[in-house]
Amino acid sequence: MSNFNPADNIQDLQYFGEFGGVNPSITDSSTYTFLKAGTMEGVFEGEIDGCYLYSRHWNPSNKYLSQALAKMEGTESASVTSSGMGAITSTLLQLCSAGDEIVSSRTVYGGTYAFLKNFLPKFNINTKFVDTTDLTQVEAAITPNTKVIYCETMSNPMLEISDIRALSKIAKANDCQLVVDNTFSPMIFSPAEMGADVVVHSMTKFINGMSDCVAGTVCGSDEFITSLYDVNDGAAMLLGPVLDSFRSAGILKNLRTLHIRMKQHSLNALSLSTQLDEDGFKVIYPGLPSHPQHELMKRMMNKEFGFGGLLVLDMETAERANELMEMMQDENVGYLAVSLGSYKTLFSAPGGSTSSEIPEEERMEMGLTDGLVRISIGLDNNIERTYEVIKRCLNKMN
Ligand SMILES: *Cc1c(COP(=O)(O)O)cnc(C)c1O
Repeated sequence: MSNFNPADNIQDLQYFGEFGGVNPSITDSSTYTFLKAGTMEGVFEGEIDGCYLYSRHWNPSNKYLSQALAKMEGTESASVTSSGMGAITSTLLQLCSAGDEIVSSRTVYGGTYAFLKNFLPKFNINTKFVDTTDLTQVEAAITPNTKVIYCETMSNPMLEISDIRALSKIAKANDCQLVVDNTFSPMIFSPAEMGADVVVHSMTKFINGMSDCVAGTVCGSDEFITSLYDVNDGAAMLLGPVLDSFRSAGILKNLRTLHIRMKQHSLNALSLSTQLDEDGFKVIYPGLPSHPQHELMKRMMNKEFGFGGLLVLDMETAERANELMEMMQDENVGYLAVSLGSYKTLFSAPGGSTSSEIPEEERMEMGLTDGLVRISIGLDNNIERTYEVIKRCLNKMN
């Protein structure tokens, strides 16, 4: 485990294209021929592996990318989906049946929250939301019906860190699966190495990093990934969130530079957070000693990739948050847009956008107030220059 390095694992992959190309060939087919009719029957009955049948099931481009993601997360297997939500919803529907329960972190991505809170109860799958940084709350919420403990390694948007090793122990003791969304911190955290059973990502964010497509991944055991694509009862096979092979090929190429991008995002975000904190602004960033899980993060992280590319500025009111964001866009610090993990800085106020699915009362309870500005720091070459511009915007407001 101490030798585990997600970046080295990806570097070690050697893929040849069909004609000796340095990138694997892209599959441009929805369906695949069989030389013998009997082979096709065998594939449908699950007796024959390793044959491609139909691209919703598997295709070679998605297989290459999936293998690389399994290497990154240190899991036996992985699959790719057409969105992060496609990965999360397929995973939870595969693991849970009517009558089962989920214990989830209360600070999760708004779409995940809405799926757990509003959608799954239609199938009698109910969720208890707790503060997963408080292990006693997690243990107290578990019942004999609990099948899944769900959290984000670094939560959206509060940047809270959950203790994956401790949660994994609780999951194992209670016969549950620990599912972790690692979207905010690819390479920084390796949840499966710390005991998570399934790791999901929205690849729309850091992994692809170009703000040009939507995609997701599920990383887990061979058995679990195979079950997702079972032609009779696999959630991914039957719900059909298949990633297009051209996108898949593009994401694989971007994955090859992820380690460099993560280091630069983290360097830039730490530099800005430290300076804005010293200037007396209210900053949430897990790399600051004032962050409640700073020490925990240091124990959990793959250190060379830093504390991540996201920081949160508390501007106290929605009006001030909006004023700052408009000013920063005018000054070309970045774009006022949802999403994150892009080469360019992106900022939004989660209270009125990506977390608006969470009722106001619950948002206030978790400290998710309307004045928060979530900033995903880009790959800026000269972060001092960026700091000066942000500082100018902040000073203009007071
Ligand atoms: C964006 C996001 C998702 C959803 O991913 P999509 O690719 O937009 O479907 C899930 N979890 C987190 C933490 C996210 O930031």
